[in-house]
Amino acid sequence: MKTTPIESINEVYEKQLAYKSVLKQSLAEDRIKLLKKLLRSIENNSEQIKQALFLDFRKSPIETDITEIFAASFEIKEIIKNLAKWMRNQKVSKPLSFFSIKPYLHYEPKGNSVIITPWNYPFQLPISHLASSIAAGNTVILKLSEYSPHVNEVIASILKEIFKEEHVFVVNGAKEETTHLLSLKFDHIHFTGSSEVGKIVMAAASKNLSDITLELGGKSPVFIDKNVNVKQVVKNIIWAKFVNAGQTCIAPDYLIVDKQIQNEIEHTFKEELVRAFGENPKDSPDFARIINDKQFDRLVEGLNDARAIGAHLIAGGISDSKERYISPTVIRNVSQQNKLMQEEIFGPILPIIYVEQINEGLNLVNSKEKPLALYIFSKDANYIKHVIRNTTAGGTCVNDAMVHILHPNLPFGGVNNSGIGQSLGWYGFKSFSHERAIAEARFMPMSKFFWFPYTDKTKSVLK
Ligand code: NAD
Repeated sequence: MKTTPIESINEVYEKQLAYKSVLKQSLAEDRIKLLKKLLRSIENNSEQIKQALFLDFRKSPIETDITEIFAASFEIKEIIKNLAKWMRNQKVSKPLSFFSIKPYLHYEPKGNSVIITPWNYPFQLPISHLASSIAAGNTVILKLSEYSPHVNEVIASILKEIFKEEHVFVVNGAKEETTHLLSLKFDHIHFTGSSEVGKIVMAAASKNLSDITLELGGKSPVFIDKNVNVKQVVKNIIWAKFVNAGQTCIAPDYLIVDKQIQNEIEHTFKEELVRAFGENPKDSPDFARIINDKQFDRLVEGLNDARAIGAHLIAGGISDSKERYISPTVIRNVSQQNKLMQEEIFGPILPIIYVEQINEGLNLVNSKEKPLALYIFSKDANYIKHVIRNTTAGGTCVNDAMVHILHPNLPFGGVNNSGIGQSLGWYGFKSFSHERAIAEARFMPMSKFFWFPYTDKTKSVLK
């Protein structure tokens, strides 16, 4: 796909600056009208979207339906349903001493926004965050990943039909174009990607004191207690880990399992993987490929290094560079020095760590950066409470995995190294809006009590 020339970016950037004030006056109904058009266009283009994802990394059309089209449409529908309410001024309570003031929050657009996105959910992520920014009344420059060219083409054509470029403009490019974008002044920068690039984005934002949301990655652990229904938990994890071939920011990264169920869990993984993907997962229509050679080489190298120093394969471990295929892999005894345990895996490889005491697992998790997600499987309320109280994470599911991202009333985001700020639903709208504090004097200004000259009466007010 053709890279967007820097001159075009500059030209549209200027137009968007001028358009900010027009958008600031827009009403909920204006924004909803555009979002409805977007929703309709997604429906009309669903076959093209599925085809594009298949071409980019052989993602199954059903998986695209669930994780890209449904997820993005669901987000837009939630916004359409709630936007008028979200945009209304929100009353806050007032203490007696502020009797003359009507206090409220007013939601106004931040202004011009840039949204920078990764390749792993190349439709859902750009569209969902775009919808939040449109809902909040901003202009948007949408920078798509260079690794999903087919999806980018569909997105660009959909958006061009609906939005004027002074409102929404798609930029195709890689590091150079993103670096240029980051040199411009934006009121809000929304970045989804690696923690490494997140730091570059945050440094750039500091030059203009731009507001930011960083949706980053990390190693998301899963705690599994001995009392669980092993078959159900394994099926749950197989889905969460191997959807999109493990290229999901909130995919389980490694498991911390009570040693007492080692045999049962390993046996069940072997059995359920065959049930999910057949004897040869390469032939399964449901199993995606790795996005590019760089990611493929990184994963295979990690796996080979781990095996060379004693890791034991439970299932999988087969790869084919021509297809960028790595079979769903479960592995134990991976050294903590191995890359698989040092960096976010972001692929279909799942290490299991067995522990005799839960504190061994907690210490391990807490020795690493704060994760984006953390999952707990247990029937014991004390175990669940203990893990929650002794760890931190952007979000958590108990006895499930990944669904917290879909819940319309929960914020989505990381914590420090896994992200800053929150996205989606009301929280997405709020991130792209300025929450303006308004204190409206009703019948007399409250500051009257402090007016000059200061007297004993002024002092008495403080009592
Ligand atoms: P990435 O950080 O390499 O790239 C993200 C974006 O930044 C792309 O648009 C890319 O063109 C741009 N970019 C890359 N290098 C740059 C540089 N040096 N300077 C400026 N811009 C640069 O991430 P990726 O490989 O596309 O995506 C994978 C990462 O994204 C994983 O870490 C994953 O966990 C994370 N992720 C997070 C979420 C979330 O919501 N928290 C969702 C999806 C993916």
